[in-house]
Amino acid sequence: MLTSIVGTNWGDEGKGRMVDLLSEEYDIVVRYQGGNNAGHTVVNDRGKFILNLLPSGILRPETANILGPGMVVDLEHLTKETAKLREGGIDITPGHLILSSRAVICMPYHRLLDQLEEDRLGDKKFGSTRRGISPVYADKYMKKTLRMGDLLHPESLRGKVEGIVEWKNLTVEKGYGHSPVEVEEIMAWLEEFAMPFVPYIRDTTVYLRNAIASGKSVIFEAQLGALRDVDFGIVPYTSASTTLASYAPTGAGVPFAKLDRVVGIMKAYSSCVGEGPFTCELFGEEAHALREAGGEYGAATGRPRRVGGFDVVASRYGTLMQGCSSIALTKLDVLSYMEKIPVCVAYELNGERIDEFPSEIDDLNAAKPVYEYLPGFHADISKARTMDDLPKEAVDYIRFVEKAVGCPIQYVSVGAEREAYIKLF
Ligand code: GDP
Ligand code: MG
Repeated sequence: MLTSIVGTNWGDEGKGRMVDLLSEEYDIVVRYQGGNNAGHTVVNDRGKFILNLLPSGILRPETANILGPGMVVDLEHLTKETAKLREGGIDITPGHLILSSRAVICMPYHRLLDQLEEDRLGDKKFGSTRRGISPVYADKYMKKTLRMGDLLHPESLRGKVEGIVEWKNLTVEKGYGHSPVEVEEIMAWLEEFAMPFVPYIRDTTVYLRNAIASGKSVIFEAQLGALRDVDFGIVPYTSASTTLASYAPTGAGVPFAKLDRVVGIMKAYSSCVGEGPFTCELFGEEAHALREAGGEYGAATGRPRRVGGFDVVASRYGTLMQGCSSIALTKLDVLSYMEKIPVCVAYELNGERIDEFPSEIDDLNAAKPVYEYLPGFHADISKARTMDDLPKEAVDYIRFVEKAVGCPIQYVSVGAEREAYIKLF
């Protein structure tokens, strides 16, 4: 079984907790895109863990975890993330964490460039997490990055670094007027943060091909959501990577593999981190109440998330782009406090009602939400484990979402804990 778990919206739908839950039935979890620019929060019997780079299967000792070729990996961050998990009692060894030799290394100067550019943009900033993700993907396409496999050849490493640093300083020093990147500093950084990972690096394509051939099951874990995809998202307020399920086999290093299922993770309401149009956004008291009820603060950055009601237009589009075979609807319990549940059922653009998610930023900026209200369920549903445990209004809400996005809902989560969910089929 090859399953991709992806976000249908702006990210932070609860992918991490669903991977943590579903990974029990799988042998391997692979991250296939992005870097440490987003975060998953996973709560289970061993505690609460924040994961930025590591696949959520890392919390299960029997699961193998891979950082695939489609990823960009800040090894300083990985050093800290692994140290933190080890403090929390999680074992991390080359036996259960494998880094693709093709994955690209996100360097300190990528972080620096991300910051310099956001600062230069001032008011017009993209709302980057400033973790170097766009600069490192840009360099990947310029073919001027170090890949993890370069660490396996220390004899030629300095020469590669010298070539890249000379080129980088055209931008850092001559462009932004910042003090230059120094080769010695980069070599010292690599020694401290990269070399300890050498035992973890291998050709993950060979590993995964053999695993799949021997019948092992794999989860392809995405970060961010469909609306942050570099081509199909809200450009330019997107990530620099492809967040869609169709990229999963490629980004994971097995472009020849065919997915058996795609589980789209969808939140029972909307949230969005950073800048850019967010049509269904709620403001004032209504937004405050929802943000507090949902604990909507970024896992990677602690930034308060913007919130809104469930967005039919965006969610239907996200479901389509991800090619979802089923949906996990998360955080339904958060809506418990609501008298009536706000739902953005359509957009209004130039005085007309539209149902298709616009492709252009100008249309998205101009679009207004059309809100309707569904009956609230006013009950603590956090202990519900079957559909029969839910009030009628909650069931109606689930069926409404299912119909609106045109995809069957397979799971409903009603709390952050591993067991707080309902399986519909
Ligand atoms: P991801 O990036 O898609 O993995 O999502 P995040 O981890 O950034 O955000 C989801 C947040 O919601 C986390 O803090 C989870 O612990 C929490 N969460 C997940 N599912 C549920 C749920 O069903 N109910 C509640 N109340 N919280 C949940
Ligand atoms: Mg997140």
